Amino acid sequence: MLTEDILTRLERIVGVENVSTAPERIAEYSQDALKQIFCAEVIVSPRTAEEIAAIMKLANERRIAVTVRGGGVGYTGGAVPLRGGIVLATDRMDRILEISGPDLVAIVEPGVTNYRLQEAVEAVGLFYPPDPSSWKESYIGGNIALNAGGPRCVKYGNTKQFVLGLDFVTPTGEIIRAGTRTPKNSTGFHLESLLIGSEGMLGIITRCILRLLPKPKARRTALAIFATARDACQCVADFTSSGILPVALELLDRISINAIEDYAPSGLPRDAGALLIIEVDGLPEAVQREAEIVREMCLSHGAIRFKEAANEVEANAIWEVRRLMSPAVARTGTIKLNHDAVVPRSRIPEMLEFLEGLHRRCGFLLPTFGHAGDGNLHINVMLPDREEATRRRGADAVREIFQQAVALGGTLSGEHGVGYAKAPYLSLALTDETLGLMKQIKKTLDPNGILNPGKLFEASLPPHEVGFVAADQGCC
Ligand SMILES: Cc1cc2nc3c(=O)[nH]c(=O)nc-3n(C[C@H](O)[C@H](O)[C@H](O)COP(=O)(O)OP(=O)(O)OC[C@H]3O[C@@H](n4cnc5c(N)ncnc54)[C@H](O)[C@@H]3O)c2cc1C
Repeated sequence: MLTEDILTRLERIVGVENVSTAPERIAEYSQDALKQIFCAEVIVSPRTAEEIAAIMKLANERRIAVTVRGGGVGYTGGAVPLRGGIVLATDRMDRILEISGPDLVAIVEPGVTNYRLQEAVEAVGLFYPPDPSSWKESYIGGNIALNAGGPRCVKYGNTKQFVLGLDFVTPTGEIIRAGTRTPKNSTGFHLESLLIGSEGMLGIITRCILRLLPKPKARRTALAIFATARDACQCVADFTSSGILPVALELLDRISINAIEDYAPSGLPRDAGALLIIEVDGLPEAVQREAEIVREMCLSHGAIRFKEAANEVEANAIWEVRRLMSPAVARTGTIKLNHDAVVPRSRIPEMLEFLEGLHRRCGFLLPTFGHAGDGNLHINVMLPDREEATRRRGADAVREIFQQAVALGGTLSGEHGVGYAKAPYLSLALTDETLGLMKQIKKTLDPNGILNPGKLFEASLPPHEVGFVAADQGCC
């Protein structure tokens, strides 16, 4: 329980108006996209690294849990204050500090949304590729802390490929400047890399130096429909031999196609086995040739329908189908256990075969869609009800999916992170030695264990309780 004295000291650091215990604000900041509530005691909204350093010093002195929050649209409970205490909101740290064309660099505070950054750089002919579907709500700080990805990662890579430098505050309150604005840097340890994918457990990111690219002059988007998921997956796997690397290679399986037709009908054939959304970009002449190769690849792999977008409006309509997948699939069951296992893309056909078998054994619908081009599938286990027995069977299915992903040479998450949602399964993917080293790093940086406690290393909740909100659960 936070005392009046602590609240007063927080108010002195960030100003009275930036410390809130108002019930509606506590409720909003006590959950993320996993929709499971753990109550914060106070929401503190700093503006500078110095203020964050002072908060962390106070939190260490009084052993108060601190959980950093970006846009709050993570899927694994990372920003949720499992142990109460302070939620440190980065909403006010939302300035774009610099965009440099000559240096191909953007410097931003962590509370800038991905969408705002993309708009700002594209307005001056530049390009920031990482594009999570949550781009309108998610913050750059959250994207870095989870190493977020998106459809364009097939060609350009995840967030980590675009971080040149970071300022961050350590859990004990030191301000660190790591990396540079130059594309090359071999000067000491890359401490900025330590923060990428650190899930808000090793430090609080306060300033981000990001690598940009020139904006591609042209793009072409196509939608290909296949009779079977196997044909679509083989097409994805064979793209490497075509000599081109599409920007995006997104897959929707039959259940996902039907879910989208129920939710926002767009005339997709309900009996199709799978569809692919494929995009290429670059110079117009090269894109023209690449688009022809895409068509040849799809038709030679048995596409029963192939349509290339004639203009931007049609291209955006194709992408809108993909962006609506999450809410559309959510309607195919009472509870959606949403996971983002990743396998080498040559093994996707085996993964889909495994999922068919799992569906036959467990009876749950398993709509699967996502970034086939990099093997990152969004596999959803749809539960028909909230009964404990159903939830236990759902958790068993999730475990089997992760076991299979690891057996095929993949891992638990390609972009959503672990948080507390996947913590019970972490040892399937990491050895004891690897986990031991991660724990040592955490202990060195956060000796009192106050930054984002209860995540990653601890199975804080039994698997069948992850993501379930009791009807009467609330913070007030
Ligand atoms: C509809 C929908 C679609 C999605 N699509 C994608 C997708 O295509 N690709 C993808 O990768 N993800 C996707 N996600 C998941 C999620 O939105 C992303 O992982 C995103 O990066 C989370 O960002 P956030 O700002 O909301 O982070 P939050 O949820 O606020 O926090 C996530 C983690 O980052 C830490 N953190 C936040 N800010 C900081 C900081 N400044 N310093 C240190 N740690 C920090 C938090 O403590 C927490 O552990 C989707 C989510 C939804 C709801």
